[in-house]
Amino acid sequence: MQTVRAACVKLQQERITAPIVFITDSNWNTADEHLIHYATETGALFLDGFGDGICLGMTKNAYTQAATLNASGRNYLNNQSPEQFVNNTAFSILQATRMRISKTEYISCPSCGRTLFDLQETTTKIRSVTNHLKGVKIAIMGCIVNGPGEMADADFGYVGSGPGKITLYRGKEVVKRNVNSEVAVDELINLLKENEAWVEP
Ligand code: SF4
Repeated sequence: MQTVRAACVKLQQERITAPIVFITDSNWNTADEHLIHYATETGALFLDGFGDGICLGMTKNAYTQAATLNASGRNYLNNQSPEQFVNNTAFSILQATRMRISKTEYISCPSCGRTLFDLQETTTKIRSVTNHLKGVKIAIMGCIVNGPGEMADADFGYVGSGPGKITLYRGKEVVKRNVNSEVAVDELINLLKENEAWVEP
C-alpha cells in the first residue's frame, strides 16, 4: 500500500491526471481474509483521496478454494459465487469510502455489555427488508445510553431503550419511544414510509 501511495504521489507531482484503477488480487483463504485484504489494500488509498476505480481478483489458488467456500464472510451478503463475492466487496469498499453510493448504508455499534437485544440477528433482519433503499442511512444501536451519540449522520435510528424495547429516531429526533421489539422492525418500515424514504422492493 505504501508503494502504491508513493506512486500516486509521484503521478501527482508529474501532473499526470489519467484515472487510476487499483487492481488488487488476494491470495488468502477465507472470505474474511479476502475482505480484510481488499479493504486495506484499496480502501485506505481511496480514503487518502487517491484512485478512481477498483478491480478485485483472486490468485488461481485462492479462486479454486473460494469456489468451494461460503464466500459471504462479514459482508452479510448471500453470495453464490466468488465472482459475486468480489463484485459485492468492490461496491462495499466504494460505498464505505464514499467513492460511490450504490446501496443502503448501515451504521451499527460493535455491541457491548449494555446491548439490549441480539444485535447481529436484528441487524440481519433489518438489512433483509431495507437493503434495496439506495443511499438511506440506518443506524442500529444496542443501547440508549451511548447509541444516539454514536449514530453519526444516520437518517434513521433503531436503538435499544430497555429489555424488549426499541426507540426509533429520525436523525437525532426521537419519533417512536419504547416500541415492543416484536413489532419494531415493522414500525421502522412505517417510519421510512412516513418520511418518503421507502420504495417497494
Ligand atoms: S451503543 Fe451502547 S450497546 Fe452499542 S457499543 Fe455503544 S455503549 Fe455498547
